[in-house]
Amino acid sequence: MPTSHETSPPVAVLMDMDGVLYHGDRALPHALDFVNALADVPHAFVTNNPIRSPTEIAARLEKMGFTRPEPRRIITSAEVTAEWLSRQKPDFRYFAVGARGLHDALAAFGTADSERADFVVVGEGAGLDFGSLKTGINLISKLGARLIATNPDESVDATDENGRHLILPGGGALVAPFAVATGTTPVFIGKPYPLIYHEALTRLGVAPEQCLMIGDRPDTDIQGAAALKMYTALVRTGRFADGDPLPEGCDAADWDTANLQQLRGELDRSYPGWLGAAG
Ligand SMILES: [Mg+2]
Repeated sequence: MPTSHETSPPVAVLMDMDGVLYHGDRALPHALDFVNALADVPHAFVTNNPIRSPTEIAARLEKMGFTRPEPRRIITSAEVTAEWLSRQKPDFRYFAVGARGLHDALAAFGTADSERADFVVVGEGAGLDFGSLKTGINLISKLGARLIATNPDESVDATDENGRHLILPGGGALVAPFAVATGTTPVFIGKPYPLIYHEALTRLGVAPEQCLMIGDRPDTDIQGAAALKMYTALVRTGRFADGDPLPEGCDAADWDTANLQQLRGELDRSYPGWLGAAG
């Protein structure tokens, strides 16, 4: 039982996806059972990955065996970036560097304009090259565009077509050359920064202190949620394996567990009957 919270269970749950629900194209053991056990608990999925749209992610989850979630239950850093920019400046103009998911999310709220963009937005995936760097740097340094990054991850895990593990540059690495060349600090949208959590919590209609965040990364998932006083659960099925030390300066999660099955057992001990006993 976390000492930071009352004896009542959380009323809603947010889950990271990669490293929590799946690796590559394969559902992790116990993930389907865990999500099924959440059927009566308001929940949503949050990802720093801006590459795929919520609709694409929902279809992908279904292919892995999960009940297809409503796309509204899936919150990506690209979507939150687009919504936040539209609140800063309705009908904004942007220059985006990243995969299609980012361009699509931004196009729903703003207009692409490499001549006089209000924002230079950097996400993950292909797109960064000398030309895009040159355009972005000049928009920032000469025209005062603001530098925005969908997420701060330095690197992200992926698998190649043969299922082999790969490390790819994350949003934090991709935005770095723009930040260095212009001497500006980017606005970061994804975890551990609060904007993405606030968007997810708003959709669920709950306050942060009422919600449990489940993630595989102490430095992003857990750190950001703890800062908002959410309940936190680390599952060591992603970047951090069982027994790995936490990165320096990271808060311990309320529950630190090997996998979702163990977490379910611990949640059941803390709040009997809330999710049902682990199968
Ligand atoms: Mg993850």
